Amino acid sequence: MRIGIYPGSFDPLTNGHLDIIERSKKICDSLIIAVAKNSAKKALFTIEERLEILATCCVCEGAAIEIASFDGLLAEYCKKKSVNFIVRGLRAIVDFEYEYAIALMNKKLAPDIETIFMMSRGEYSFISSNIVKEVASYGGDVSTLVPQFVQEKLQERFVTKCI
Ligand code: ADP
Repeated sequence: MRIGIYPGSFDPLTNGHLDIIERSKKICDSLIIAVAKNSAKKALFTIEERLEILATCCVCEGAAIEIASFDGLLAEYCKKKSVNFIVRGLRAIVDFEYEYAIALMNKKLAPDIETIFMMSRGEYSFISSNIVKEVASYGGDVSTLVPQFVQEKLQERFVTKCI
């Protein structure tokens, strides 16, 4: 049984994340999509909202999917869940240095767990949750960047903020 985990902030989920999820499902028997609770980033959506988005947008075909959130060290959570490998996405060189440092630290904390990097698909390589939030906050069209459910949540959020 190969158990993979795809951890992240997912604030919010984008088509770039979804592509990594779809491809990860093909290389494991079970995939945990895990929302990190301890991110230093200031979030637009609560953990519960991000979990709801993931549950709505991630179709359970192929590998079994578990959607979860975790507190504290990823390495400890992985040990608790008997994870074999961590999946991370790489968009460009700018992601590399940060991801490399985290992968080395996780290897030190949990030597049996591998980190696997997936290159972003060309058409998604410029998509980040931050860019999506920025564009949506000014009323821009994000329909090709995120699932429709996320688009609706962003619209709700920014309309509410403007009132
Ligand atoms: P984190 O705060 O952990 O970086 P993110 O939600 O921003 O969380 O991203 C989670 C993972 O998904 C990271 O490995 C990130 O590099 C990757 N990722 C984000 N956007 C994309 C994309 N458009 N294509 C491929 N991978 C991506």
